[in-house]
Amino acid sequence: MEIELLKGDITQLAVDAIVNAANTSLLGGGGVDGAIHQAGGPEILAECQKIPAQQGGCKVGEAVITTAGNLKANYVIHTVGPIWKGGKFGEAELLKNCYINSLKIASEHGVKSIAFPNISTGVYEYPLEEAAEIAIKAVSEANFPEIEILTFVCFNQEDYELYDQKLNQMHK
Ligand code: ADP
Repeated sequence: MEIELLKGDITQLAVDAIVNAANTSLLGGGGVDGAIHQAGGPEILAECQKIPAQQGGCKVGEAVITTAGNLKANYVIHTVGPIWKGGKFGEAELLKNCYINSLKIASEHGVKSIAFPNISTGVYEYPLEEAAEIAIKAVSEANFPEIEILTFVCFNQEDYELYDQKLNQMHK
């Protein structure tokens, strides 16, 4: 799997699947979640609303998949990152699970290209450097041969530079 880095708006990408940093209700929120629902239209929320009845929403660290509505992507994979509480509440494992479970559900749907935002590092306040290390390690070690290309999407320059540095260190 090839790993790419991009600075920009994940809602604009023409990849098979984009990942959403959702919350457990799956009913929409701010940040990247709000941007995805706004750009993708009401179809995404309509599918999300059907999920809680079947599965009880989405637990932290898990992932569900829906249509991408009007977006160029085919699917949105909604995963719920942990809220940062200082690091002693299993946050690292839960964040890792977000990446692995998103890749797993992607591969089950024949996704070949996938883009991730920086899960948990916005409103959920996960420290960016630790989050980047977890994300890069998780996807580098993952074994989903059907997925050909993974893009980390950073929304601002500071995050982009940190990811760039970490990728050069960790992913040779
Ligand atoms: P969380 O609640 O998991 O912390 P947020 O949406 O608050 O989720 O933030 C996660 C990351 O998504 C942050 O780095 C934020 O800057 C970034 N982000 C916000 N909007 C977009 C967007 N349109 N495309 C890509 N990344 C975005």
